Amino acid sequence: MYCPNCAASISDKAELCPKCGVRPFREVNYCYNCSESINANQEMCVNCGVRVHKKVSTPVSASTESKPPWLMALLSFFLTGLGQMVIGQVKKGFAILAVSVVLGIVTFGTSAIITTPFAIIDAYLVSKKVADGKDIDEWEFF
Ligand SMILES: [Zn+2]
Ligand SMILES: [Zn+2]
Repeated sequence: MYCPNCAASISDKAELCPKCGVRPFREVNYCYNCSESINANQEMCVNCGVRVHKKVSTPVSASTESKPPWLMALLSFFLTGLGQMVIGQVKKGFAILAVSVVLGIVTFGTSAIITTPFAIIDAYLVSKKVADGKDIDEWEFF
C-alpha cells in the first residue's frame, strides 16, 4: 500500500510510515491503493474506487488491542457472549448470553449444543476481524 500522508510505498502492516512518521489513515492526502492524490473530504478514490476515508478510532477498536481470537473463543466457551463483551460488543454479548440462558431454561439446557458453538465461532471470527485491524459494528456477527 501507499502511505496516505506522503504516498511512499509502505508495508500493509506498517504501524507508522517509515518516511513521514505518520500513522497510516491519520491523514489522508493520497489513496493508499493507487497513490492518487485525495481531497480531505473525498470518501472514495475516483481513480481506483477504493474507500479512503480516515479511520476514526472508536472505543470499540481502541480497546481491542492484544485480544487474540482464540482467547475470545475460549471466553465465550466458559460464558456464552463473554468473548464478544471483551472485544467491545457489550450489548451483543449480553444479548447472546440472555438468549442462551432463556433457550437453556426452555430446552432444559439442550440448546447449549447450538448456542455455545455459535457464540464461540462468532467470538473467534469477530475478534479476528478486530485483530486484522478492521472496524466492527457493535452488532456485527461473524
Ligand atoms: Zn508517509
Ligand atoms: Zn486509488
